Amino acid sequence: MTSPIWHPFTQHGLEEPIPLVASAQGAALFTADGQRIVDAISSWWVTTHGHAHPRISAAIADQAGRLDQIIFAGWTHEPAETLATGLCAIMPAELTRVFFSDSGSTSVEVALKMALGHWLNRGEPRGRILVLEHGYHGDTIGAMSIGARGVFNRAYAPLLFDVGTIPFPAAGREQEALDALERACREGAAAFICEPLIVGAGGMLIYPAATLAEMRRICAQHGVLFIADEVMTGWGRTGTLLACEQAGIVPDILCLSKGLTGGAIPLAVTMATEPVYAAHYGPDRSRMFFHSSSYTANPIACAAANANLAIWREEPVLERISALAARQHEQLAGLATLTNVRNVRSLGTIAALDLGAEHGGYLSDLAPRLLAFFRERDVLLRPLGDTVYVMPPYCIDERDLAHVYACIAEAARLV
Ligand SMILES: *Cc1c(COP(=O)(O)O)cnc(C)c1O
Repeated sequence: MTSPIWHPFTQHGLEEPIPLVASAQGAALFTADGQRIVDAISSWWVTTHGHAHPRISAAIADQAGRLDQIIFAGWTHEPAETLATGLCAIMPAELTRVFFSDSGSTSVEVALKMALGHWLNRGEPRGRILVLEHGYHGDTIGAMSIGARGVFNRAYAPLLFDVGTIPFPAAGREQEALDALERACREGAAAFICEPLIVGAGGMLIYPAATLAEMRRICAQHGVLFIADEVMTGWGRTGTLLACEQAGIVPDILCLSKGLTGGAIPLAVTMATEPVYAAHYGPDRSRMFFHSSSYTANPIACAAANANLAIWREEPVLERISALAARQHEQLAGLATLTNVRNVRSLGTIAALDLGAEHGGYLSDLAPRLLAFFRERDVLLRPLGDTVYVMPPYCIDERDLAHVYACIAEAARLV
């Protein structure tokens, strides 16, 4: 009997085996047939403190027995109020407003709608969105429109809107990117959106904090709203709570999801500055923010996020992150000397390298071969084309991490 499930980003025609996971703890996944697998990509970048963190699991169980769900238009509840207050306390002071949604993609859609609403309500309608080359912001139509075009969205091209693409500030070409942004801003735009410091799904490409700071300055100078998509980079991934912190900048609109609940349950927020909120505020109903989804600010998800915030406040999370970053750095240094290993790079808890001599792109058959290779060695790694990256939960121990890197070194010798 084959399963009726149609999996995401999966070609079922290749009949690759799909492991059945029964439980997870810390940095380990346990399959139904008793294998222990090291989760070296935090279950697609969401798990920060580790799977089944006792405080987050307990908060979910407790909240589920108390208030499971309530309409959020015109109603409110304690977990959402506590979370919004907690987020305002921990995030940059300028971000005074919190809008809830359910995924990284929807937090981005909300950000785009806020930006356009802001301009229309101010009586200066603007529609153009500027984006960074190689960007990824999700798989809904708006999020795809502002992301890199490729084989993954070719079929949907007729639905995607036009954007202004700023070249990626690759090493030595930062000024080119900044000049392009300056020109595009001068021509007029509603907003510029980017993944701060590191482009994730686009290949774990890192750019300097000084460039990010300069991009923010250019947007401010031309009155273009700056949207930071910290869906992947937020919650310590890059070594600081937010990647923006390292550039000393604050966006006009901030998207957070993935690690918001520690990775336990879906939830997202889009935070905005007072001017963005003020543009929607007043007695006129036509100026309200027209967005909602059924599960907006689901109480159980908010309770999980509150537990995550408590962990950030009360546990040495940043120390764990810097210890992990240091260990990854050490492991990477060992790999950098291997032939077949190119572009070794890291940022906070994220480490990446390219394998093989040539760039094969997302559909290069290296990625699925590597996926199977790592799975045979009880490691969950999911290369992006020929880019292998490690993005583990912050609790991963020395032994598991060493195993992950030993497998990468073995793969490097075989490609
Ligand atoms: C994963 C990701 C998204 C989309 O988040 P989903 O929860 O998968 O919808 C958006 N932006 C960035 C930078 C991401 O890494």
